[in-house]
Amino acid sequence: MTPETTTSLTRPLPSGLATVEQDIARACKEARRDRTTVQLIAVSKTFDGSAISPIIDAGQRVFGENRVQEAKAKWPALIAACPGIALHLIGPLQSNKAKEAVALFDAIHSVDRPSICEALAKEIRSQNKTPELFVQLNTGEEPQKAGVAPGEADAFIASCRDKYGLVISGLMCIPPVDEAPAPHFALTAKIAARNGLTKLSMGMSADFAIAIQFGATHIRVGSAIFGHR
Ligand SMILES: *Cc1c(COP(=O)(O)O)cnc(C)c1O
Repeated sequence: MTPETTTSLTRPLPSGLATVEQDIARACKEARRDRTTVQLIAVSKTFDGSAISPIIDAGQRVFGENRVQEAKAKWPALIAACPGIALHLIGPLQSNKAKEAVALFDAIHSVDRPSICEALAKEIRSQNKTPELFVQLNTGEEPQKAGVAPGEADAFIASCRDKYGLVISGLMCIPPVDEAPAPHFALTAKIAARNGLTKLSMGMSADFAIAIQFGATHIRVGSAIFGHR
C-alpha cells in the first residue's frame, strides 16, 4: 500500500517525503553507508507554512531556505510551534544580512568571499552563536554562479580559519544544470578531504542518490518533497 493508492483526498500523506526517504535508504544501502550519515535538508523556499506544516508533522526537522528575508517572515512562528527545528541557509548571503542570518540559521552553506567571512566572524562573536559553516564551491566555474573556484579553494579555506577564525565544517556545491553531476561531486569530495573537512553539502532532487555515492553528508531536496515551485 503506497500513499498514491490511498482513496482519502481530505488529508493526503506527504508522499514526496516518503519517496525521498525510500530513495535515500536505497542509495545508502548501495553505497554501504549508514542512513544516519546523511542529513536530509528539506528545501522549503517559496512554500508557506501550510505546505511546510505537514512535513514537520511527518517528523522532518531540518529545513533549508535560500533567502534570509523569506525565512525570517515564515519560520519564527513555525519554530515556536515546534522546537527542535534546524534551519539551513543554502542561498547567497549579503554582508548586510549576516546579523539576521546568524540569528536565525543553524547552518550557512554559502560562505564564499572575504566580506562574508568578516561579517560572519563579527556576528558569531557578538551573538555568541556557532552556526555550522560550509564553503560554497563553484565547481563548474560558471560566471553567474556564487562560490569559490576550485583552484582558489585551498587558500580560501585556510584564510577562513587563519584570518577570520571561522570553523569551517565542509564544502557545498551546485553542479551546472547541463552537466553530469558526478565529476563535480567527486571534485568537491577531493578538495574537502585534502583540507581536512568532513561535511559535504551536495545533491538536490534530481541527483541526491549520486551525491550519496560520492559521500554527501547533507542533501538539499526541495521539489521532490514539496512539489514544483
Ligand atoms: C532550491 C535549491 C535546492 C533544492 O532544489 P530541488 O531541485 O528543488 O531539490 C538545493 N540547493 C540550493 C542551493 C537551492 O537553491
